[in-house]
Amino acid sequence: MLSMRAEIISVGTELLLGHIVNTNASFLSKRLASLGIDVYHHITVGDNPIRLADALNEALTRSGIIITTGGLGPTVDDITLRTIGSAMSRAMVFEKKIAKYIKLYFKKSNIRKIPKDALRQAYVPRGALWFENKVGTAPAILIPHGKKIIVSLPGPPRELVPLFEKSIIPYLRKKGFAGNWIIKTRTIKISGFAEVDVNNAVKDLLSMGPYTTLGIYAHLGEAHLKITSKAKNEKTADREIKKVEAIIRKRLGNYVYGADNETLESVVGEMLTKKKLICAVAESCTGGLISNMFTNVSGSSKYFKMGIIAYSNTAKVELLGVPEEKIEKYGAVSKEVALSMAEGIKKVSGADISLATTGIAGPTGGTTKKPVGLVYIAAIGYKLKMVKKYRFSGNREEIKLQTSISALNLIRAVL
Ligand code: ATP
Ligand code: MG
Repeated sequence: MLSMRAEIISVGTELLLGHIVNTNASFLSKRLASLGIDVYHHITVGDNPIRLADALNEALTRSGIIITTGGLGPTVDDITLRTIGSAMSRAMVFEKKIAKYIKLYFKKSNIRKIPKDALRQAYVPRGALWFENKVGTAPAILIPHGKKIIVSLPGPPRELVPLFEKSIIPYLRKKGFAGNWIIKTRTIKISGFAEVDVNNAVKDLLSMGPYTTLGIYAHLGEAHLKITSKAKNEKTADREIKKVEAIIRKRLGNYVYGADNETLESVVGEMLTKKKLICAVAESCTGGLISNMFTNVSGSSKYFKMGIIAYSNTAKVELLGVPEEKIEKYGAVSKEVALSMAEGIKKVSGADISLATTGIAGPTGGTTKKPVGLVYIAAIGYKLKMVKKYRFSGNREEIKLQTSISALNLIRAVL
């Protein structure tokens, strides 16, 4: 059915120049999919009335729901509404009620003098419905056009998202634009397992379809398996997703560290909290990245005591008590020094579990014996003492990130 098909027109020269990333189109596509509305086309045009009018006319030939984003501001380069108005031969009319809330918006924001052009946003194409913007001035506009509709949303995501959620979605549902099926997804997160191996483990599931599908997405240091279910209702979708998730978890076991919003650091944090353990880290090549990841989780002070960045050899000796002879004999990047750093931070902090990293992040500093990407990670505590050798590839930042992810995985293994 034509009316079920949506199309997104993103307006903005900044988008075409690559200065900003089109997160609005991504957000809208995901939300529309979850309402059972197919999105077959994305168009991006600059702030140019002729090209926008062309895009609109083209979209009207094939889609029932057309959503534009951006260009609703009060300045001259904000052309979206005027262009829609003239493309649909509708005069622009002044809506007193919009003007009223715009004035109120400035008053509430403690801005006495309303900018000269602000009230331009009170002009909408004749016959348009509009929805108040609670966090900005430009209203969302909806123009019924035969059996089709054109929706216009402001560009800033913090304005677009609530307008779409609170005003447009209810309209789409009420008027029967939403499909009679829904889409749900769940992302299973895997770490410490090579992507090819993940691929091999779930190969047969990748082509199951048509209503439940599995996609594999590689990230640095981890892989995500996204289960998508298209079903008549939420209950059915949940049931289908659960089935696939159970198979994945059975096959990949402990390599699965979490799902959806869980992160490696949040999962490790939960494990430490549950076991009432305190952890501390000594970082050389990761330069504080592991501490940063730990502290990305709110409430992490309960289990993360401290981190020391002992980057130079002197710092390793002075702050962590690594014996100088060890560094001389084995080198700073060695299993002996990694262990000694982990022992040092454990002593200094009094933590139950300690972690240490030392490695060569590159691009310089590698030798044939100790190449760039060589990393040692040590973990001590909780009845265990271990040190692992890794060979990562990539640039400096990628090696630091992979080291940090592996360090968190090592704690997961210890726990
Ligand atoms: P304003 O009243 O702020 O001018 P507007 O509706 O005219 O809003 P634009 O001028 O097109 O919107 O964009 C304003 C800002 O919104 C951009 O600078 C950008 O930060 C953000 N933005 C616009 N379009 C997008 C998009 N497609 N994805 C993500 N962000 C966007
Ligand atoms: Mg603008």
